Amino acid sequence: MPFTLIRKYQIEAAHRLPHLPDGHKCKRLHGHSFHIEVVVRGEADPKLGWVVDYGVMDELFQPLFDRLDHRFLNEIPGLENPTSEMLALWIHRELAPSLPGLAEIRISETCQESCIYSP
Ligand SMILES: [Zn+2]
Repeated sequence: MPFTLIRKYQIEAAHRLPHLPDGHKCKRLHGHSFHIEVVVRGEADPKLGWVVDYGVMDELFQPLFDRLDHRFLNEIPGLENPTSEMLALWIHRELAPSLPGLAEIRISETCQESCIYSP
């Protein structure tokens, strides 16, 4: 696919990783400004000249934003163990049925770390 579109979102959320050993800092309740990138690949529509309207991506992401932003992620069904990997997978599963060309979900918890889910 010749074109790649990336739309960036940010949520503030708390989590803890329950399966880690006692004493691991990530087992404690803490929060992040999660940076989320939704990546779509495809052909440009010959008339419109774009792959997908960013506004459509925003409309599709808004319900997820409402479920994730300023929430305790562990309480969301499917995110009981909310690592970046599981969050990326969860977002992909939610968006894929309605967003053709969805290629990747990228999650950054900090400036130094990121996770890419690209099935
Ligand atoms: Zn964390």
